[in-house]
Amino acid sequence: LTTGLEAAWSKVKGEEVLTKENIVEPMRDIRRALLEADVSLPVVRRFVQAVTDQAVGLGVIRGVRPDQQLVKIVHDELVKLMGGEFSELSFAKSGPTVILLAGLQGVGKTTVCAKLANYLKKQGKSCMLVAGDVYRPAAIDQLAILGKQVDVPVYTAGTDVKPSEIARQGLEEAKKKNIDVVVVDTAGRLQINKSMMDELKEVKKVLNPTETLLVVDAMTGQEAAALVTTFNLEIGITGAILTKLDGDSRGGAALSVKEVSGKPIKLVGRGERMEDLEPFYPDRMAGRVLGMGDVLSFVEKAQEVMQQEDAEELQKKIMSAKFDFNDFLKQTRSVARMGSVSRVIGMIPGMAKVTPAQIRDAEKNLMVVEAMIEAMTPEEREKPELLAESPDRRKRVAQDSGKTEQQVSQLVAQIFQMRVRMKNLMGVMQGGSMPALSN
Ligand code: GDP
Ligand code: MG
Repeated sequence: LTTGLEAAWSKVKGEEVLTKENIVEPMRDIRRALLEADVSLPVVRRFVQAVTDQAVGLGVIRGVRPDQQLVKIVHDELVKLMGGEFSELSFAKSGPTVILLAGLQGVGKTTVCAKLANYLKKQGKSCMLVAGDVYRPAAIDQLAILGKQVDVPVYTAGTDVKPSEIARQGLEEAKKKNIDVVVVDTAGRLQINKSMMDELKEVKKVLNPTETLLVVDAMTGQEAAALVTTFNLEIGITGAILTKLDGDSRGGAALSVKEVSGKPIKLVGRGERMEDLEPFYPDRMAGRVLGMGDVLSFVEKAQEVMQQEDAEELQKKIMSAKFDFNDFLKQTRSVARMGSVSRVIGMIPGMAKVTPAQIRDAEKNLMVVEAMIEAMTPEEREKPELLAESPDRRKRVAQDSGKTEQQVSQLVAQIFQMRVRMKNLMGVMQGGSMPALSN
């Protein structure tokens, strides 16, 4: 995520003030970075819109550079997206507070039960766990062992009793013992299904819980939004717990929960130990999102770029002089996705190695190119000749892309030069004579 965001900041670094024009490219990077972090598309759209609205027309703040302003706005919007303030757990005014945990299988519900008990015990509250996952005896044993580890009682009734009945009995027991907080474990499923939801609804009805927390694995990607939405609609949640934040998650789930459900993330799990549960602070998470070194995904992306198939397809096009703006755009995009043109330039034989400064310039140029190609009609993209012949078309592209007519002309000239140069190169590479040009 950070690689994409840093590119975004660098694009407004030299500018005086944020404007509708100079914010287009950084916002595109931000959008891309969020999508790559597995934030769902509708959430990204709204986020980008919110940032753009704020950034444009902000005016100059003395002593603050536009890129810093943009970082600040993105940071603040991220915080807002994740619920703004830190959301505390709610407690019942009288009688035991009941916390019901729900979520898919393997996300960390059973672990969270014990961690939560441990966490609340430190705040001086007495806790009890209820083993409501009746499908595997191992699940009950697991909770019993973890309960012992953190020294809290665990209510079990075997696997033959219905979860809602276990919940009822557990709650009664807790009342009898004057327990402050009862945490109820439930059975997950690999996927959302009716039997899980029906079971949860029934358990919830019996318990009337103070908190119904959806446990979400931070590794959940794009599906997080749908997952949270469904659980919220079906059983009604009061918040979420994000687990496995210690892994190399891309954070998408964290950014989607509040936006799609209106319910905050309350706690995060950062490891398998009982101590690894912390309150969720949106501003810290935003800082993490903005400052995280994302070297790994950068390397992955570099490998994705210019996949073999594409390269072969491209070669054919070049040989037949059909290399058009669609191909150009495809290349531009894959290059921009990687955040560096060095690899592609390195693939063209005879080209010198490039410096980081040159790479940055090339990147900047590519974003400009992308905007112009996007402003072309499908026909113009396939037939660059149309633009070469018509000043009116070039003018329109310039206007629609927010670039100058001169820039458009340059781009059009460039694609013809590229055709020639690449075709020549291919000819030389294949040991043949220079092929005749067909346009
Ligand atoms: P459940 O099926 O939802 O009850 O999930 P479990 O509580 O049984 O957890 C599944 C696995 O995830 C176990 O191996 C846990 O140790 C592990 N786990 C749970 N929370 C975390 C976490 O925050 N970080 C890491 N690294 N592992 C976790
Ligand atoms: Mg479990």
